[in-house]
Amino acid sequence: MPDPIVTLENLTYTYPQRETAALAGVSLRVPAGELVVVAGPSGSGKSTLLRCLNGLVPHFTGGRIQGTVIVAGYDAIAAGPATMSSLVGFVTQNPEAQAVLDRVEPEVAFALENAAVPPAVMRRQVPAILEHLDLLPLRDRRLDELSGGERQRVALATALVRKPAVLVLDEPTSQLDPLAAETLMAWLASLRRDWE
Ligand code: ADP
Ligand code: MG
Repeated sequence: MPDPIVTLENLTYTYPQRETAALAGVSLRVPAGELVVVAGPSGSGKSTLLRCLNGLVPHFTGGRIQGTVIVAGYDAIAAGPATMSSLVGFVTQNPEAQAVLDRVEPEVAFALENAAVPPAVMRRQVPAILEHLDLLPLRDRRLDELSGGERQRVALATALVRKPAVLVLDEPTSQLDPLAAETLMAWLASLRRDWE
């Protein structure tokens, strides 16, 4: 059997100044190519779990962590966000807050500029991902003029343009109407089929 792309072993994490653990003894294996939904009530630790995958927990949050987080062969706790951010594409719960620039193409390109990707590679990869997500017609548009679903696709493009090994979305449908949510799920299904 191939190695899983994500392995959590007995992961326990407590935020600073908290007595109870946000994650207690979590073990999980995700085979490559799987689409996994993490479900649970508000406050049950879903976001915390996802933030362990890119090293934000515990590197930005502090607190106490025990156990193992292996993503794409890397120890996420040891490697931290500097390494993990190129391996884990992350779409946060509020893509508006995540956006850096105000137009579609520069916003997607910024993810690569920030990673010091050479301009020649950028000129290839940015249009390719825009095309993949049917965003070429919107490339010059302002982000604040897009619909929620289009906005979410830009966040997806930004997360995918660095060709991460894992794509993580935190409550990706929570701000979408039911139709846009269904469309997003269809996009994710087709990405899973076609993405290399
Ligand atoms: P979910 O995403 O399932 O709603 P969270 O992972 O956001 O759950 O939260 C899990 C628990 O950790 C909650 O009790 C929450 O109050 C707490 N928590 C989340 N973020 C922080 C933080 N930055 N500092 C302290 N406690 C936090
Ligand atoms: Mg959450």
